[in-house]
Amino acid sequence: MKNKKLNAVQVWKQFEDVLAPRLRLSVIERAVYSHLLRHSLLERKRRLRFSVIWLARNLALSRTPVRNAVHRLDELRALRILERSKAGHVVEMRLPEGIRAASDRKTGPGGPAKLPRGTSLEETDFMKTFALRRTIHARDGGRCFYCLRQTPGRMHCLDHVVPRAHSGRNSYRNLVSCCMECNAAKGDTPAPDFLRSLYRDGRLTAEEFAGRLRALKELTAGKFRPAFHAEKKGRESGKRG
Ligand SMILES: [Zn+2]
Repeated sequence: MKNKKLNAVQVWKQFEDVLAPRLRLSVIERAVYSHLLRHSLLERKRRLRFSVIWLARNLALSRTPVRNAVHRLDELRALRILERSKAGHVVEMRLPEGIRAASDRKTGPGGPAKLPRGTSLEETDFMKTFALRRTIHARDGGRCFYCLRQTPGRMHCLDHVVPRAHSGRNSYRNLVSCCMECNAAKGDTPAPDFLRSLYRDGRLTAEEFAGRLRALKELTAGKFRPAFHAEKKGRESGKRG
């Protein structure tokens, strides 16, 4: 972090899309974290000295919930309280991508993924649990389905190939792991058109583009099955061509 300029857009996306939902931050905790981040890491300072009165006044909130939020963020390791005195708090802030709990498997409900009892693979809603969502990321092997970039654990999300707004389902045939940039850029664009735009921008070679179009067809045809805990090894687990 030292002298490296922060990519604020990326930081904010990580915060809103990954950190806050995974840690289940309340509205006040979100406000506190954002405000402290703005006055520390965004100013290239890792540490910040502040008083709860200052923080509460800036956020137009009462002191007690603000103080509680600072302490909860410390428990969640989103920041570390280094000093607490009459003069105020000194905290060391962490970037969303550096917060382990946000990407820690244990924070997700459920253990290894199992198909919900009584449901078939085809009926399964893969957005329903953390464990189910993880099977899609595992199937796609840590790469963005669209641009093929490696996506570190905290930097990926699930994308509906056919957007939910267009009746896209939460099926393994319609969900892919992708980088946040592609997720944001794709929006409601049909997947083949989005892939074509990546090709035009030089982010995919002609060969990769053709491979992605093929993969898209295979995905829809149900060829990329996520692997489950109970499934035997060696079974088709959805490798892409
Ligand atoms: Zn991507």
